[in-house]
Amino acid sequence: MKYLSLKIFAAIILILAFQTLVNSDKIFAQTRSNKYTIVIHGGAGTISKNIPDSVKQAYIGSLKYALKIGQDILANGGKSVDAVEAVIKYFESDPKFNAGIGAVFTSAGTHELDACIMKGKDLSTGAVAGVKHIAHPIELARMVMEKTPHVLFTGDGADQLGKKFGLKWVKNSYFDTPQRKAAWEKWKAKMDKEKHGTVGCVALDEYGNIAAGTSTGGLTGKMPGRVGDSPIVGAGTYANNKTCGISGTGTGELFIKNNVAFNISALMEYKGMSLQQAEDEMIHHRLKPGDGGVIGVDKDGNYAFSFNTEGMFRGVATSSGKFEVKIWE
Ligand code: ASP
Repeated sequence: MKYLSLKIFAAIILILAFQTLVNSDKIFAQTRSNKYTIVIHGGAGTISKNIPDSVKQAYIGSLKYALKIGQDILANGGKSVDAVEAVIKYFESDPKFNAGIGAVFTSAGTHELDACIMKGKDLSTGAVAGVKHIAHPIELARMVMEKTPHVLFTGDGADQLGKKFGLKWVKNSYFDTPQRKAAWEKWKAKMDKEKHGTVGCVALDEYGNIAAGTSTGGLTGKMPGRVGDSPIVGAGTYANNKTCGISGTGTGELFIKNNVAFNISALMEYKGMSLQQAEDEMIHHRLKPGDGGVIGVDKDGNYAFSFNTEGMFRGVATSSGKFEVKIWE
């Protein structure tokens, strides 16, 4: 009898071990190509080449730091959507960039934040606009994508959703920085032209999945309630495993009217253009000088930047050893 129960016990152990093996097989059955590409941006616009070297180095340092965060995730077999969220979350906590802390001021002296994240595998998307109290709008966008049946939440509804999900809730003044306040004062005094700035990330992971994300405070002096292109699928953000992932920065109204991000994907899919050709078509032929720029990665891991502004804070890292950040050229 004792011998029989021992046998049963051994059989159960064997079955459990077999199941674990089968499951781990499933995990590893997802073919890893060991190839990844990640691109980032921290906004495009008039970036004077005469900025003090210390300021330039600070931007370069932050870009490298952000890029490394994403690269580490991808190099360790992580998912593109996780890399994109982590990079953008970092930018949202760096006051130099117009997203999260450091977001620009509206004409009313407040902050209204927009963000979007999208997966190229199934086009699933989450976006938020006019957020005033959630410290990391990109986290909220991801919650929208994964935990609601909807795509885009705005204003108080978006903030309340963030509260419900337990995301970090802050006073609107949390996003204030002296630099942005000064830019707002300047804007009020001279009614200066709006300045560009936004952050974005696009990645292709080892499983062949593309993800794209964008987060922004919008334009200095924007009217309260105004929504830019960043949270609009196909305007400032888009991802499709059939073609590419795109994140844009620039005058949002023009990116919305021209469906910039989606059109880049469409030019590739319908016209057979390369990523670079498609980006250049939209940025240099459909938009005008000074309007903005885009970053992108295609399904094969090629990357491309295109901008019609003086500069764009940007960077790229690939599994073949490239790691580069740039501002001008
Ligand atoms: N595209 C953003 C917006 O219009 C701003 C920017 O990228 O500079 O909200």
